[in-house]
Amino acid sequence: MRKPIIAANWKMHKTLREAENFAAQFPAEQDLYQQVDVVICPPFTALQVVGEALRGTGLKLGAQNLYPRDQGAFTGEISPLMLKDLGCSYVILGHSERRQILQEDNKFINEKIKSALKHGLTPILCVGETLKERKEGQTETICGNQLLGCLADLEKEDVSKLVIAYEPIWAIGTGVNASPEDAEKTIAFIRDFLAWQYGLETAEQIRIQYGGSVKPDNIKELMKQKNIDGVLVGGASLEVESFFSIVQGAV
Ligand code: PEP
Repeated sequence: MRKPIIAANWKMHKTLREAENFAAQFPAEQDLYQQVDVVICPPFTALQVVGEALRGTGLKLGAQNLYPRDQGAFTGEISPLMLKDLGCSYVILGHSERRQILQEDNKFINEKIKSALKHGLTPILCVGETLKERKEGQTETICGNQLLGCLADLEKEDVSKLVIAYEPIWAIGTGVNASPEDAEKTIAFIRDFLAWQYGLETAEQIRIQYGGSVKPDNIKELMKQKNIDGVLVGGASLEVESFFSIVQGAV
């Protein structure tokens, strides 16, 4: 049985005060957080305050990116050591906004995954196709190629530690989610692909999320799908009420 995992990607939102208020107001439901992993990924600037507020709650802290070196002359970047220091246990990697706006490619994301794993951070690796690619019937080719590139040279023991988020780009921030059946179809493909590459046992261990306009009113149908183990939430994770109701809908 794979434990569900719900992650909040705040992107470039929230001042320190806003982040602190969210963390202070988020319900302290220890029993619930035993059943479902809940990860909050604030911007770098708020990791410390949110991390302090979450201590002892059972909620987990994640970052939205890292630079794949321990330290050095990399102006403006943040290392996995720094994230560990702040109490992070997860890190989102390969988000489509970074791929598209900041031109990150699979090779660079692969370096980041290796660097995260080296320091005991669990990568949440995002993959997904554009609307044009979907219309051209390229969804599986795109996701397969992203997985091949991002997971290059990784042993199956490492791959089994990852969380993968299938995030069709056309569904991110648009209010239009993939139907639960469509999301399940691609996620089942991703699991088959992982089984082909790393064996069935490894593929069965890996948690695969769906991301793209998840809301309180679509979480239950998504979570009913056999291969969907959780969700990565952008917009609806910014308010305590909507994010908590998504968490409740996951169990
Ligand atoms: C995301 O950015 O990872 C995301 C899924 O955003 P939204 O929920 O707003 O579509």
